[in-house]
Amino acid sequence: MTGDTDKLNLLGMAQRELEAFFADLGEKPYRTRQLLQWMYQRGVNDFDAMTDLSKSLRAKLAERATVSLPRVHSEHKSSDGTVKWLFASGSGQRVEAVYIPEPARGTLCISSQVGCALDCAFCATGAQGFNRNLTAAEIIGQVWHANTVLPRRPNGESAVTNVVFMGMGEPLANYRQVVPVLELLISDYAYGLSRRRVTISTSGIVPHVEKLGDECNVSLAVSLHAPNDELRNRIVPINKLHPIGELLDACWRYAAKHANRFVTFEYVMLRNVNDSLAHADELADLLDGNPAKVNLIPFNPFPGTEFKRSGVETIRYFQNRLRDRGIVATTRRTRGEDIDAACGQLAGKVSDRVRRRLGEKNIGVATG
Ligand code: SAH
Ligand code: SF4
Repeated sequence: MTGDTDKLNLLGMAQRELEAFFADLGEKPYRTRQLLQWMYQRGVNDFDAMTDLSKSLRAKLAERATVSLPRVHSEHKSSDGTVKWLFASGSGQRVEAVYIPEPARGTLCISSQVGCALDCAFCATGAQGFNRNLTAAEIIGQVWHANTVLPRRPNGESAVTNVVFMGMGEPLANYRQVVPVLELLISDYAYGLSRRRVTISTSGIVPHVEKLGDECNVSLAVSLHAPNDELRNRIVPINKLHPIGELLDACWRYAAKHANRFVTFEYVMLRNVNDSLAHADELADLLDGNPAKVNLIPFNPFPGTEFKRSGVETIRYFQNRLRDRGIVATTRRTRGEDIDAACGQLAGKVSDRVRRRLGEKNIGVATG
């Protein structure tokens, strides 16, 4: 008998690949669309329950394939309604996903890697080092799980209306696995979310920003965090490979590929590091006249960090200065602090780290 491990996991597989698999089975392409709807719209992973597929096809699928979901290690609920799950990802490693309910939307913040190699100075995930890329199944499985265990929203929509790649890892350093996930998130046969509701957050792997713009132009958020190269080199080390000028050029090209697009710039507010009015002016100079919005993130501390959160007043002055300069600027409300689910606090558990340093060839080169 064949064990499940010898079978093909259809979870996270790109529609094109599924079509090829169905063609091999002698099936028509529309069968793929039926299967996608069963999987992602109805959350069914048992082929036998897919009643509009013929009995013989269901038997063939059961013999050769599975829909295997990632294993959930634990669930944590915050007093503000935020829910965090830890997923087991082999040999004691864990990754996290966080659901943030709001009146107008339900946002799932998902992870793309076990740890992260990019080593930003203020990030708990970066401090752990890198272990491995998640597979497309492990990434989309986070969305599947949230939609399965959470009730539908009051208007009947699935719980997850928005997905942001702001959990653990750098999504554009895991490009090959992330793109099929994006396609499934926006496909009408799978989750059917609009491109505006799916956001890739990157610290700036420029060649992949360009590629993504051509292949799958979802919403883009860029972790800028500093208005000049000297400071950004220190707190976002990937800047040494792709400095601000190069990054912003790629952003404007990305935005220009679709009408009415803008790029969101994330800016973590670190006390006495990047939070002066002079920094705000420098930032406004960089973004002025371009399709940009700024989202200020109050720094979330974690054990061992040298940084402190800027004061509430400082953040307000900074935001107002940007607005006075004509830049759209908001401040992110911190959610889920009591369960360590806030931005940058996701640590999961990375024990077998594979230290990778900037400048080594394997940073961000898992291209398709
Ligand atoms: N690797 C991607 C996405 C994951 S991090 C990226 O860097 O964009 C998601 C966001 O959380 C990024 O803007 C990141 O800079 C920010 N972040 C990291 N650590 C943080 C912390 N301790 N407090 C607040 N935001 C943090
Ligand atoms: Fe990696 Fe993003 Fe954290 Fe930087 S901020 S270390 S890119 S997860």
